[in-house]
Amino acid sequence: NVPGSPRRLSILGSTGSIGQNTLDVVRQLGGREAFEIEALTGNGNIGLLAEQARAFGARMAVTASEAHYDALKQALAGTGIEAGAGPSALIEAADRPAEMVMAAIIGTAGLAPTLSAARRGADIALANKECLVTAGDLFVDAVRKGGGRLLPVDSEHNAIFQVLEEHQRHALERIVLTASGGPFRTWTREQMAGVTAETAARHPNWSMGMKISVGSATMFNKALEMIEAKHLFNVSPQQIEVVVHPQSIIHSMVGYTDGSVLAQLGCPDMRTAIGYALAYPHRPALSVERLDFARLSRLDFEAPDEDRFPALRLARRALERGGLQSAVMNAAEETAFEAFVEARIGFLDMAEIAEAVMEDMIDAGEALDIDQVFAIDAEARRRAGERLRAMAR
Ligand code: NAD
Ligand code: MG
Repeated sequence: NVPGSPRRLSILGSTGSIGQNTLDVVRQLGGREAFEIEALTGNGNIGLLAEQARAFGARMAVTASEAHYDALKQALAGTGIEAGAGPSALIEAADRPAEMVMAAIIGTAGLAPTLSAARRGADIALANKECLVTAGDLFVDAVRKGGGRLLPVDSEHNAIFQVLEEHQRHALERIVLTASGGPFRTWTREQMAGVTAETAARHPNWSMGMKISVGSATMFNKALEMIEAKHLFNVSPQQIEVVVHPQSIIHSMVGYTDGSVLAQLGCPDMRTAIGYALAYPHRPALSVERLDFARLSRLDFEAPDEDRFPALRLARRALERGGLQSAVMNAAEETAFEAFVEARIGFLDMAEIAEAVMEDMIDAGEALDIDQVFAIDAEARRRAGERLRAMAR
């Protein structure tokens, strides 16, 4: 139900939560009639990657992990689908001539391939918020110079994109990001101190990948989204508000100079945001659950608590300092997250490490090119690693 001839689409991170939802939306919008799948990429889950590539007739399938190359080649034997592995193959997948690229790799690993797609002028459906958190305006500039569109997929930013019309941009006063508050919304710090990754990953409303689920519990995800909002909508730190809204029905709001507030509502299902980006500028027909207001009966709101969720405070600090501080915050937090998942540190240690590394690297300055972003990212990971080892002793 998307007008026009099939568009070519590549999905970076097709085996993940967003990637699988994207393929579901592709199916709902008409499958091969609507989209030609150019390239799909994954990491360890070779069975699923090969199955997706066959089912959608992809031209190329790439695993990020070189160790899985042989398995992928074998799984695709006889199909004519090209197999690739490793960082350069990921870039090649991004550079294939698809008009649209869904950027759904998790973490900073998504930056290099997404940037490559942006530079060649592809429309970027952006789920990978780390592109904006680490490279910020350099990424936005790359999209602009390439000539493609930047279509936000993160539900909050997609909501804002839906209600922020270009001709009313001058009247934008503030952006209100909603946050579910995660599974520990009402917990004390003492209660949070002992939780495991399994408990932290159990999100009340959304079903998502591990990293973003834990990020929802620490509210680091919201911290990244504040920075994402700054770059997507070109607003000042003071124009970005966060409100806790436990039902996740209002996906975010825009406040205007006349006092009006416009919101986008829906059931918590990423396919609505994905569909909006894939079909843009049209609105697609999707079979997702409809809101039943009578059953819903109420929507709640509360102020976020920066003492229990220090990630929000760190994001505010990163926004005010600008430059590479948000890249530092992100790299330190990714490193700490990996240690938390391996039970090497506690839940509260993640924000502590991020804060310490941000203070260590307060002079990180501004990036003039992307290599500087990668260098600062590596340095922040190194320093976070040092702090982790000191903590473990
Ligand atoms: P996920 O962990 O479910 O999937 C990640 C994808 O990236 C997989 O295909 C995986 O194979 C691939 N991958 C993992 N490590 C890689 C590496 N080192 N190099 C290359 N590829 C690698 O993640 P997700 O929840 O789908 O999230 C993807 C992105 O979308 C993230 O940036 C996340 O913040 C964002 N996002 C997700 C949701 C959601 O509902 N899941 C919502 C909003 C935004
Ligand atoms: Mg989000």
